[in-house]
Amino acid sequence: LDHFEVCIIGAGVIGLAIARKLAIINKATQLQILLLENESGFGQHTSSRNSEVIHAGIYYPQDSLKARFCVQGRELLYDFCREYEIPYRRLGKVIAAQRDEQPVLESIAQQAVLNGVYDLEWLSQRSLQKIEPKVNAACALFSPSSGIIDSHAFMVSLLQQAESAGVVFAPRTRVLKIVRQEIGFVVECQYGMPGSQGTYQCGSSLLINSAGLWAQEVAALIEELPVSSIPPLFPSKGSYFAYSGKSPFQHLIYPVPDAGIRSLGIHGTLDMSGQLKFGPNAEYVNSLDYRLNPKLKEQYVESISHYFPGICAERLLPAYAGVRPKLTGPGQGFADFMIQDRQQHGISGLIQLFGIESPGLTASLAIADDVAQKVFQQL
Ligand SMILES: Cc1cc2nc3c(=O)[nH]c(=O)nc-3n(C[C@H](O)[C@H](O)[C@H](O)COP(=O)(O)OP(=O)(O)OC[C@H]3O[C@@H](n4cnc5c(N)ncnc54)[C@H](O)[C@@H]3O)c2cc1C
Repeated sequence: LDHFEVCIIGAGVIGLAIARKLAIINKATQLQILLLENESGFGQHTSSRNSEVIHAGIYYPQDSLKARFCVQGRELLYDFCREYEIPYRRLGKVIAAQRDEQPVLESIAQQAVLNGVYDLEWLSQRSLQKIEPKVNAACALFSPSSGIIDSHAFMVSLLQQAESAGVVFAPRTRVLKIVRQEIGFVVECQYGMPGSQGTYQCGSSLLINSAGLWAQEVAALIEELPVSSIPPLFPSKGSYFAYSGKSPFQHLIYPVPDAGIRSLGIHGTLDMSGQLKFGPNAEYVNSLDYRLNPKLKEQYVESISHYFPGICAERLLPAYAGVRPKLTGPGQGFADFMIQDRQQHGISGLIQLFGIESPGLTASLAIADDVAQKVFQQL
């Protein structure tokens, strides 16, 4: 039986960031680290189906993990991009308020300060016109530390660094069962292409469940894990439409979110190639289906036209969708990231991450630091 000190389940941006962090801080002691991934490559689910926005950390409740890890993670991410030459742009974001939305915008500005985001600037209608002449609003907030990143290049770099520091990456390897031992776990997997599949077993002292939308399913495979420690999952789909041709905007353009901040509203984001896209909406779903419903277009045009009255519906083309691993359902309030260790579930050597929705990409390096600390407390 192969033995690893750490086995990480799921190679989305979170599993990759954790693998790299553990490997590079641990080069000297040569921990054996295994990163298991069900798909043929890394980041094929939520980590490649998002807005690729580096968030500033404005909206989340004070002292929440989302607020803390977003603010820390954003600067770690900008530093990482500079150091490893990952394409990014700190292009700034406009939150555009219509007249009746100004009180909500004011409370957002206050929340930002509580979270340690001190660089927001108020824009009058006139100053907004100067930087974004196509945007219609009574006033706006400008966030200079919001930006965009080439998330694929980021993940490639995380994996390269992890592998060159000794991490074993096993794609097409799906965890099927996790048996507890006196110390650690035996992890049973199915690996290989359909038609030529085999089974593989390995031992691991420590187990990290970063399986995103499947984190609950993986948790349920762990022998003796109290079921009550597994939070319910409420998948929420978000769809994007691309806006063909030259972008009318230079910055990220967001409407004011609804008062409960369940989603940030249909916003306009740019990617590194300059392509403008609008989305995502938030729609609770029962199954994983990334197909886009073209009928959404009408709703999108209606919603976008509040802040972009010049929108040309013909230029709006179906693009892609992603699914958030939310921990609260319709009508329920805010849920934070959940990172569980023995204190929560009673099993030593097990760390589980649930509900890593937005701003998970921004927060990934800060989450990895936190998980690494928990790992070294347990080794
Ligand atoms: C619509 C949308 C927009 C978003 N926009 C932003 C944004 O602009 N900025 C931001 O910071 N964040 C954003 N996010 C959040 C961000 O994308 C996620 O927080 C992040 O990608 C989560 O990464 P992950 O590694 O936890 O999950 P995933 O990327 O889903 O990775 C989990 C991996 O586990 C693997 N797996 C599952 N089960 C098993 C098994 N049994 N065995 C082996 N492997 C398994 C899966 O194949 C998958 O690759 C957005 C999310 C969505 C849905």
